[in-house]
Order: sequence, then C-alpha cells, then structure tokens
Amino acid sequence: MDVYGIVGNPVGHSVSPPMQTAGFAERGIDATYVSFEPAESEIEQAIDGADALGIAGLNVTIPFKQDAFGIVEPDPLAARIGAVNTVVFGDGSPQGYNTDAAGVTRSFAHHDVAIDSREAVVVGAGGAGRAAAFALADAGAGVHIANRTAERAAGLADEVDGATAGGLDSLVDRVPSADLLVNATSVGMEEDATPLPAELLHEELAVLDAVYTPRETRLLRDADAAGATTIQGLWMLLFQGVEAFERWTGVDAPIDAMHAALLDGLE
Ligand code: NAP
Repeated sequence: MDVYGIVGNPVGHSVSPPMQTAGFAERGIDATYVSFEPAESEIEQAIDGADALGIAGLNVTIPFKQDAFGIVEPDPLAARIGAVNTVVFGDGSPQGYNTDAAGVTRSFAHHDVAIDSREAVVVGAGGAGRAAAFALADAGAGVHIANRTAERAAGLADEVDGATAGGLDSLVDRVPSADLLVNATSVGMEEDATPLPAELLHEELAVLDAVYTPRETRLLRDADAAGATTIQGLWMLLFQGVEAFERWTGVDAPIDAMHAALLDGLE
C-alpha cells in the first residue's frame, strides 16, 4: 500500500484526506492518505523523514508552502511562484509542484471560461495571488494585480509577463473591462465582506473566489446578482487536489468522486 499525506499546522480542518481517499478508492489504487502536523520548526525533518520512510507523496499547506519550496526540488512553475504544495517522492530528490496554479486554470476550464487572450484581474498578492497571476499569464491572459499593499502587487507584476499592478483603488478602472476576476485575498472568510464594490461587477465577467468557507461568499452573491459567471473556491480546492492526484499516480483523477467527497467534507 502506498502512503500519501498532508503536512500543515493546524491540519485538522483539511478536507484533502476524504477527497484524496475517495480518488484512490474510485480508481482502485491501494493507497492511504494521512494528516501530519509537525511543529513549525520541524518541516525539514518531516519532509526528509517522509522521504526516508518511503511515503509516496505529500500535500503541503499553511504555514509550510514557502518552507517546502526551499527543501525540495521545485519545478519551474513552483520556482516562479515561490511555493510548493505538492511533493512527489521517488528515487532522486523529492520533486515540488504548485498545483494551486492549475486549481485556478482548471476551475475556469471546467466552467467553460476561456483564459487565452482575456483580461484577468487578480485581487491579492499573497500565496494564492501569486499562483493565480502566474497561472493566468501562462495561459495567455493579460493580468492586472490589485492588492491592499500596492507595493507587493507591483513586486509581483515585475515577475509576471506583461502584468500591471495597483492598489485596491485600481479595481475601479480595471474590473469594468475585465473578463476574469480572481479573489485571492482572505476577505470574505471571517466576515461577510467583499474586496470590491458590487457595482464594478458585470455580466461579461467570470468570478472565481479562492475563499471556500463559506462556499457562497458575498463577492459571489454580488457577482451572481450582476449576472456574472460565478465559481466557488471549492472548485479551486478540488482541482489543486486533482492535479496533485495526477502528479502522484499518473492516472486521470476521478473528478466527480473527489468533488462529492469534498462537498461532504465541507459540510
Ligand atoms: P496570504 O499569502 O496570507 O495573502 C493574503 C492576501 O489577502 C494578501 O494579498 C493580503 O493583502 C490580502 N488581505 C488580507 N486581509 C485583507 C483585507 N482586510 N483587505 C484587503 N486585502 C486583504 O494568503 P493566501 O495563502 O494567499 O490565501 C488567500 C485566500 O485564498 C485564503 O482565503 C485562502 O483560504 C484561499 N486559498 C484558497 C485555495 C483554494 O484551493 N480554494 C488555495 C489557496 C488559498 P496584503 O498583501 O496587503 O496583506
């Protein structure tokens, strides 16, 4: 039996175990998926130990995504994002990937929303914002990054091909003409708040909210009222997991089974 797992701290709330377990079961793969919660100072020992013990793969979540980037061999996309959320162990050095990026692009694709040659606005320049900005630019979108701390957006835009940047006030100019919007801030998670005024939203827009608790954020309610296409953060969560599953197993992930397990886990 192959052993997979997730490392995070805290990790008890994670819905990855039921989602990945459902994927293995549906594909008849003899594997188990375990949660690990190392101390914040022990992530390097944890990853080295997992490798030594023959663990097949790990997901990495808060607060370890940046640490993992410095421990394993990141692929070129993870290297640009500066964070690793999926590790594949094998004969050589552990390989690191950032599947949050595919979580963004595959969420749009699943909802039949084109990215190539479209104008995208990413709100936020933290971990999720970096993944979204690189993913969308690589998929052919023009990207504008708006962040509360404008300097952080400008720093990210310098790294992303053709991207522009500004503070949250730049949303007033950018959102009305945009095709895609990603909320990659944590706004909407703790309280019923939104990072941008509802009147900027319009029916030509597809809105992905990375926030997945609650599933229906205020931003998505506003977007729905404006006639926009809405994509809940659970899709991004699903597709980052789907991409990890496929990296580990080399097998197409059973999306419906993993989606059903995710919905159960989030209830
Ligand atoms: P992070 O690295 O801590 O970044 C947080 C971002 O939110 C920064 O851009 C920060 O702006 C902004 N922000 C925080 N409070 C704000 C406020 N009151 N007003 C405006 N902006 C604010 O966090 P992260 O890892 O990127 O995660 C961001 C969100 O994405 C979280 O809700 C997380 O759960 C979600 N997420 C979802 C998935 C998924 O699969 N669905 C994957 C990854 C993350 P400053 O730079 O100005 O501080």
